[in-house]
This record gives sequence, C-alpha cells and structure tokens, in this order.
Amino acid sequence: MRPMTATQHLSVHGSDLVRLVGAETQVPLVSGEMRRYVNLDYAASAPALQAVHDAVEELLGWYSSVHRGAGFKSRASTAAYEGARESIHRFVNARDDDAVIITRNTTDSINLLAGTLPEGTHVVCFAGEHHANLLPWKRIGVRYLPVPETPQELLATLESTLRDLPQCGDPHLVAVTGASNVTGEIWPVADIARVAHDNGARLLVDAAQLAPHAPIDMARDGIDYLALSGHKLYAPYGAGALIGERDWLSAGDPFLRGGGAVKLVTVDETLWAELPDRQEAGSPNVIGAVALGVACDTLSSAGMDRIAAEERALLAYARQRLADVEGFKPYRVWPAEHPRVGLLTFSMEGVPYDLLAAVLSAEHGIGIRHGCFCAHPLMMRLLRVDDAEAHRLIEGMRAGHHERLPGAARMSLGLGSTRTDIDALADALRAIAADGPQWTYAVDSATDEYEPDPDPRALPSLGMRMVEHPHGHGESA
Ligand code: PMP
Repeated sequence: MRPMTATQHLSVHGSDLVRLVGAETQVPLVSGEMRRYVNLDYAASAPALQAVHDAVEELLGWYSSVHRGAGFKSRASTAAYEGARESIHRFVNARDDDAVIITRNTTDSINLLAGTLPEGTHVVCFAGEHHANLLPWKRIGVRYLPVPETPQELLATLESTLRDLPQCGDPHLVAVTGASNVTGEIWPVADIARVAHDNGARLLVDAAQLAPHAPIDMARDGIDYLALSGHKLYAPYGAGALIGERDWLSAGDPFLRGGGAVKLVTVDETLWAELPDRQEAGSPNVIGAVALGVACDTLSSAGMDRIAAEERALLAYARQRLADVEGFKPYRVWPAEHPRVGLLTFSMEGVPYDLLAAVLSAEHGIGIRHGCFCAHPLMMRLLRVDDAEAHRLIEGMRAGHHERLPGAARMSLGLGSTRTDIDALADALRAIAADGPQWTYAVDSATDEYEPDPDPRALPSLGMRMVEHPHGHGESA
C-alpha cells in the first residue's frame, strides 16, 4: 500500500468517481502571487462533480423539451429527466409511493410545502433554523420553540408542545433541520419523527446540509418530507427537490399555477394534473435535475457511509488543529462530542469576522463564509446579541443608517477537502493572530464590510460579460 501523504485526498476522493471541477484553480493574492484556491466553503455551494459536468455535456447534445414532445430528442431528454427523479428517490431511500418534485433548491421546496399544507395546519419549528425553514411558516401559523440546549431538551420540548396543540383534527407539521448550517450539529431525525408521529404530526427535514455529508433513509427514519439543494450536493445547475407524501401535495391547488400542471383548462374550469406534474408548472430545469440525479448516483456509488466517516475524521483533525491557534473561538450549542457534519463556525479574538474573511482571501487564497449564515436568531444567541440590540440594528437599517452587523466566520469541508487545506487555514489564522493583516483594509461604503484597500486582484477573463457586484450581507449560506 502507498503511504498516506499530507496532501493526499480522502480515500473516497482517490477514485476518479468523485473528482471535482476546478479543484486546482489558481487565484491571485493582493501580493501579486498566485495560489491554489483553498475552498473551505462547501456548505454554501459545492463545486460540480466531474461526473456531473460530463453528464451535462453529454445531455446537452440531446437536450430538448420534456414530456410533451414526440421528437426523438424529447424522448431522450424526458427519459433522462425521469431517471433523475428515480435517482433522487433512491438516494434518500424514499418510500415507494413518495413523490419527488423537482424544485429550484431547498428554499423553493420548503415554500412549496408551506404553500400546499392543508388548511389549519399547525407548524412547529425551532428558532435555530436556517431562514429557509423559518420564514415560510410565518404566514401559516407557527410555534417557534427556543433553540434547544441539548438533543434531549429538543425531544422533550417538542413532545410537550405537540401534546399541547389543539387536538381538533387539524394537521400538525414539525419542521427541523437535518444538520445545522451554523454548528454542523446533526439533528436526531429518527427520534424526532417518532415523537412527531406519536403525537399525530408529520415531519419535514431540511436536508440542505445533511444530504451532502451523511446517508439519508426517509423510509427507515420516518421522514415524511425532505428538502435538498443540488448546488450543495456537487450539482450546481439550479435544481433541488422536495420528496415526500403525496396526499398534502396533491390535495389543493398547486403552489405554482401554469402550463404542465394541468390536464385540461377552460376559462371557467381547471383540471389539475397528478403529481409530480401538478407541482412542476412551467418548463422544468431538465439539465439541473439530471445533474442532481447524477450527483446522487455518484455519491451513492462512492458510499455515503464512507464519505461521512472520512469527513468526520477530517473535521476531528480540523477541530484539533484550530483549537491550538491562539484566539480561536468555535461556536456550538450541543456538547462537543455530538455528531456533526464537516463545518465549524468561529471567531478570532480581536479580529472582526469580515476582516478575517477578507485577509484569508486576499493574503492566503482561502475561501470561507462570514456573516450570520441566514440563521439570524441562532447567530444572535451564539453571539449574545440580545433582542434589544437586534431591534436597534433593525431600526437603524430601517432609518437608512450603515450598521456594522454582528457575525462570525465559518469553514466547511467537502469531497475535495484535505488536511493540507486545514493546515493552510490553521497557519493563516496563526499568522493573523500573531502579526495582524499584512495589507491595508478599509470598511467599504457599499458593503459596510472590510475589503482590501487597494485591491489589485483582477477578476479572471472568463469569456463572458462580467459585472463586479459588491458582496456582503445579502448573504445566503
Ligand atoms: N437550509 C440550510 C440548513 C442551508 O444551509 C441552506 C443553504 N444555506 C438552505 C436551507 C437554503 O438552501 P438554498 O439556498 O439552496 O435554497
């Protein structure tokens, strides 16, 4: 056997099957030097698998409208689209009769479910959720429970809340994350499903962060609905999915109304189609769906158990390396030994989080995420920002003031991550802690965040029109 070297990829990565597009991309530093881009931002969006890229290229030669075309290319495209649906179904081990609806992403999937819940449904959800699983419920009638301090508290609070809900026959839905995009903590979905079902509720799992990092078994664990995003699952072509029980999704009017979702229309009457067409109005994203299906098959072949085990080992390495860095402060809610996916949210004492991200990018070629990660209530709790201060910030922004928002940094791992990448981050953080930034930075008036000043790095010429856009708090992660 060949000896392992520090730069060797995780063993799953050794196979060509999980090669990633752009893994060796060089990026400029403010010093003028070029560096291999160290991607520690998989949790926001992951690069495409080479297998996905190749499948898309192949499909493009056969691309045509789906479902309604008699042309031969239409038949081929339709078969690929329906094949993707089957691949997604298998990837999450859905029940035979579960529907797979192709959507744009997790946000779209959860809004779809929110838009099709039976009248009078009571939704229960915890305050630590990503906004995608927090905001869609607001217009329905939701009980937000506080961020649970432990998994045990989660189950106990959920049980007592569900018991207290009006038992007048109205449906109940529990909506939780599979893994937190802030702490990485994996939620005990099988236990949550048991508590939900024992109390007459159904369960939606937001699997945006769980699906790329751990095996999912909807049938075994009793997950009634599951939402996921292709761009986090190594298939960044604009598709996601909602998988789950048919009855609620096919009872009322569809979430989106339009072509493809109907059987027959007159000016007075509409006969809606059956699922999945009923919830897929408009021309579907065939390329995105196929990309997602191929990603599901590729990850299944590599083995989600193996991927999960290797990422656990890599995360343990990261936690140990980074804990040695002076001033490094990780955030968590649940006990340190609780299982989590490969991400770490942290701050560095004395270094504003946005300055930290700017320095890592500009001086070290390292990409991380910073801000509040679209989980403001959870971040406010972790950063100890009280309601009064949050309210003051909201009022300040309403009045048009520039507010420096609270936040933190997050590094996240994926299929291309190596110990070398983690070492690069640890070394960079150590250098920043010891010597501070080696370039000048200023708070940009457009983003209210630190940027290199000046920033001599030219964007690459990619053969397409490119307009620079200020980044910053229009964050999604
Ligand atoms: N839920 C979680 C836990 C997430 O991390 C994200 C993405 N940051 C979402 C939902 C929303 O995913 P998308 O932006 O793909 O809709």
